[in-house]
Order: sequence, then C-alpha cells, then structure tokens
Amino acid sequence: MIDTVCQHIDVENFRNITAASVTFTEGVNLLHGDNAQGKTNLLEAVYFTALGKSFRPVKEAELIRFGEESAHVVNRFSDSVRAQSLSVRLFAGRGRRVVEQNGMKVGKMSDMVGAFRVVLFCPEHLSLIQGGPELRRSYLNVALSQLRPLYLQSLQRYSKLLKERNALLKRAPEDMATFKATEPMWSAQLAHEAAIITIHRARYVRQVNDHVKACFSDMMTKYEGGDELPELTYQPTLGSDWLREREGDPSLFTDERRLEERYLELLTTRHDREIGAGATLWGIHKDDVRIHLNGRPARLYASQGQQRSLALAMKLAEGWVSAYESGGDMPVFLFDDVLSELDVHRRDYLVRQMRGRQVIMTACDPAAADFGGAVNLIHVDGGRYTQKEREV
Ligand code: ATP
Ligand code: MG
Repeated sequence: MIDTVCQHIDVENFRNITAASVTFTEGVNLLHGDNAQGKTNLLEAVYFTALGKSFRPVKEAELIRFGEESAHVVNRFSDSVRAQSLSVRLFAGRGRRVVEQNGMKVGKMSDMVGAFRVVLFCPEHLSLIQGGPELRRSYLNVALSQLRPLYLQSLQRYSKLLKERNALLKRAPEDMATFKATEPMWSAQLAHEAAIITIHRARYVRQVNDHVKACFSDMMTKYEGGDELPELTYQPTLGSDWLREREGDPSLFTDERRLEERYLELLTTRHDREIGAGATLWGIHKDDVRIHLNGRPARLYASQGQQRSLALAMKLAEGWVSAYESGGDMPVFLFDDVLSELDVHRRDYLVRQMRGRQVIMTACDPAAADFGGAVNLIHVDGGRYTQKEREV
C-alpha cells in the first residue's frame, strides 16, 4: 500500500468524546449509529489533524468537551515513506494549541498542514455547483493548503492584510489622512500575496478540470447517456477587459510581477468605490470557479443529477490531483453522511473509485457500507466506539 493511511486515532475530551482509541483498516471504515452519538465528531477529529481546524463553522473552543480545559487528538498514520504521528492539543481560553509531529514540537500549524492529507466529502459539497462562490473558494483553499505550504502562508497573510485594509476603508470618510498615509503599504502587500495565490489557483483549476471531465463523462456515459462536457475555469477579479486582452497568453497566470502590478493598479486607482463600499473590491477573496456544462452555466442549466455528478467529480478530482502532486500517495477520503445523498448509480461509481483506498465514513445505517468487501464497522454510541470487522 503506498497511499496515506490513518492507522489509529486517540481522542481525549474532543466534542462529546471523553476518551477513544480507534484503529482503522486500510480499506473502508464505517462509523455507524443513531443521530447525535459522535460519528461526525470522530471524523472531525481526524480532519482536525490534517487541516488544524474543523470543517464545521465553529469556534475552536467549541471543539473542547464541555467543561474541560483541553482536547487532545493523536493521529498515527503512514504514507509511502514512513509511519508518522501528529498530536494536536487544544486549550480553552484563547485557542492556544500545541502541535507535535513525530514527537517534535511544530511552531506553526501551517508547518504541519500537508503531512497528513484528506479529502472530505459532506452533504454541503453537493452545493458546490449551485452555492455561492465562497464554497468554491473554500474548495480551492482546503485542497491547495494541503499541497503547498507557501499557499497556506500567503492565504493567512492575505486574510490579515485584507482585514486591516477593510478597516482602513471603513474609517476613511472620517480619517482621510490616515487612509492616504497607510493605504499604499497595505495595498502593495495585498497585491503581492494575491498574485501568488492567483498563480496557484489557476494551475490547480486546470489540473482539476482534466480530472472532472474524465470522471463526469465516465459517470454519464455509463448511466445517463449523453455526451455533455464540463469545463471548470478559474475566474479572478482582474477585470474582463484586461483578461480579454491577454487571452491565450501562456504567461497570463504565471507572470507573478505582471499579476502583482495589475492587482496594485486595481487597488490604488478605484478608491472612491472602495470607500463607498467600505471594503476591498478586488482580490482573491472575490475569486470564483466558473463551472460550465456544454458551454452553459451548470448552475442554471445542469439537472440536479448532473450537478451532483459534477460535485462528486470535483471531490474525486481533489483526491487524484493530491496524489499526483505527492508522488502517487492518495489522501484519506472522509465521507460524512454523503452516501445516502447519492442515487444508486453515483454510489456505485463512487464505490468502484474507492476500491483500494482508505475511506472513513459515517452513516446511521450499517448497510451503507455496501462496498463489496471487508468493512471495518465501528458502532458509535454516546462518544464510545466499538469495532468489529465484517464481510459485506
Ligand atoms: P448525525 O447522525 O445526526 O449526524 P452524529 O453521530 O454525527 O449524528 P455528532 O455531530 O458527531 O453526531 O455529535 C453530536 C453530539 O456531540 C451532539 O449531541 C452534541 O451536543 C455533542 N457535542 C458537540 N460539541 C460538544 C462539546 N464541545 N462537548 C460535548 N458534547 C458536544
Ligand atoms: Mg453527523
């Protein structure tokens, strides 16, 4: 096995889990049980060791079991090279944490992200096509953060700079002098990070696009007929005229200096509009990924089933690109309650694509893991986990 495999997870005072020690197998692992027992919580603990945060919109302190001072998660995993461990301890209060990789303290969380890679697929991702652009930006951020430490660092810097610049724009009507004096510094730094992020995102969308096309046509020709072709295109806020003038230019999304200059131009020549809005109007926080099907916006024209297939294809593509960029190591797939959302054809397709991969999934019904092979069944009851392997 050359893929990344989560072998074992130890959890203490994380969400409703007082103490749990769970061993996973290389294939399919199913966390099953009634609602509100801790299925998603364990998946969240695994994800936490990959991204250093939850996939649910929560404050960090809410991850710590009510009434406790700290939570602790230790993930023992292996990849094609070696066995490793990641330990994350989270303290109440101001969200202080201590991270250790293979027993050595890690200074910043961003230094650890990427060591253990995952692809999460949860019901929210079924809205990747129809939902707002923030969902698609988050898709890019989660994937790229795990592949490129420099991307994550740029993204973190960008978020901080954006907050500062927006605060400055809001105060500008009352305090123009401070705005004029400090804005050039914020804009220059913001343009620099934006250019770096744009280059990564443009390349990633091109890579994903190839896989989405392949997955989608595979699903469609087998089950639904037709020869419709999806196309994912990166949509930065560089201005349509500027982009049109450079159409077909192979250096459009590789020339960092030119991108930086363009972002800076946008950030320094349209202050009236930005002050009116009280917010930065150009930059990677406004990016989107355009998703077309046969040349038309999939959001408007694709059927519900096609939209689900596209979302599923995007999630699988995330895995394939991650493996490609990591010397062939496939990440661990985490499926939260998602199989019940898919019809039999898409489930069938997903099951075949997951053969030979590690999957950790949740469902109420143990029959959900009908993957046609050995399944590590883990029953979840009030934050306790009981295992038994079975042949389905
Ligand atoms: P479903 O099938 O409905 O998705 P689930 O088994 O996935 O259920 P989880 O989301 O894992 O459920 O767990 C939810 C439970 O965890 C809830 O009962 C919630 O009150 C509890 N919980 C969440 N955060 C904490 C916390 N910080 N401390 C203690 N319990 C918590
Ligand atoms: Mg759940």
